[in-house]
Amino acid sequence: MHIAVIGAGVVGVSSAYLLARTGHRVTLIDAEAEPGRGVSAANAAQLSWAYGDAMASPAFLKHLPAILAHRDPAFRVRLRLDPDFLLWGLRFLANTPSRRWWKNTSEILRLADESRRELALLLAEADLAFDYRVAGKLHLYPDAASLSAALPVVERKRRLGFDQRVLSRSEAEEVEPALKAYQGEIAGAVYTPDDALGDAAAFCRQLTHAIALRYAVSTCFGRRVAGFEQHAGRLSAVRFSDCDPLPVDAAVVTAGPLIRTLAAALPEARGIQPVVGYSLTVPWREGAPRVSLTDVKRKLAFAAIGERFRVAGLADIKTSGSGFAPDRFAVLRETASAVLPGCFGQAEWERHWSGERPMTPSSQPIIAPSRNIRGVYVNAGHGMLGWTLALGSARRLANMLT
Ligand SMILES: Cc1cc2nc3c(=O)[nH]c(=O)nc-3n(C[C@H](O)[C@H](O)[C@H](O)COP(=O)(O)OP(=O)(O)OC[C@H]3O[C@@H](n4cnc5c(N)ncnc54)[C@H](O)[C@@H]3O)c2cc1C
Repeated sequence: MHIAVIGAGVVGVSSAYLLARTGHRVTLIDAEAEPGRGVSAANAAQLSWAYGDAMASPAFLKHLPAILAHRDPAFRVRLRLDPDFLLWGLRFLANTPSRRWWKNTSEILRLADESRRELALLLAEADLAFDYRVAGKLHLYPDAASLSAALPVVERKRRLGFDQRVLSRSEAEEVEPALKAYQGEIAGAVYTPDDALGDAAAFCRQLTHAIALRYAVSTCFGRRVAGFEQHAGRLSAVRFSDCDPLPVDAAVVTAGPLIRTLAAALPEARGIQPVVGYSLTVPWREGAPRVSLTDVKRKLAFAAIGERFRVAGLADIKTSGSGFAPDRFAVLRETASAVLPGCFGQAEWERHWSGERPMTPSSQPIIAPSRNIRGVYVNAGHGMLGWTLALGSARRLANMLT
């Protein structure tokens, strides 16, 4: 079967790989000049095998009045009279009760586990340089109340087989000595030694190169897909904005947040809303952490990626394609510099980046045949965890098509 994969971010490249490996003829398409230029470009790099927590939660609901009153700098919500946004918001709220949250979270954890297994198989087969490292991760809790609120979830995850350890500040400092200089409050930490990290954009480039050589995957960059052609009630070709259609037997839409540009053909796209996030990358310097950190109070993630050090965070729920807000970089820099002043203060260079997390109300991705066109499949809506979930989602999709 000839399959077009539309979008070469982590989800698309992973899908192209596993479809090609299963024996399909694959053409990987992206509007950008190379893979990994979308929201996979400079994310927090975390392969959070044990942190699949859905965004809609009882804690989020409790915090919502403070967010709407602009009292939490990590979040910014712009309410708007768009039916898709309002429906998404209602469905998001319906996912906040504790039972729904845990159902969504445990589904995400299962998919993350499938990803971890696929990554192990891939790394045994291909030599990919993307600064992959089992760095371990420390979630830092600012006070006793927030730490004890986290303990039941740690217990549940342990029962699922995850290695998570509750540490005092001094024990956390033994795991990551750079925490001695950390200026934020730390009442305790949850340590996950098996969590890993890697540069998602480098992964996209390297894996695209590898599958072109090994499985003869064709690539088509710099071409925007504008829609689909149908014959006798099923997909016959992928239509471009500026060149002839490509005849295919099936198409997989892995367009990340930009899937909304194909919403006229794909109703599933309306259930995905953008949540804008930001990152700053500087050179790693002596004394900066090597273990990944999440500051739970400030909602910041820190990662040492090869010779670079990155902070990522913030969540702006706003109109798709409305771009980033320049003042948010200053918020990120100030918050990150307040806790790790030695890292972000006087860097020789700094790379700013922002991207739209493609969020569903449940935080679970959509991996399914399109309701609208036979032969079109959707693999999108991975939200805050697309890098973690990419290979598992690609495996499920490949199984669906085989
Ligand atoms: C600040 C921030 C931090 C994050 N940190 C993490 C983290 O630590 N761990 C984690 O697991 N996840 C993280 N994420 C989420 C993760 O980055 C995303 O979920 C993931 O990158 C989504 O990948 P994707 O392949 O679906 O989308 P993308 O990477 O955006 O890929 C989609 C591609 O489709 C192309 N495209 C779109 N429309 C068309 C079209 N019509 N024709 C042709 N091409 C098209 C685009 O050009 C793009 O290259 C973070 C996100 C943000 C914003």
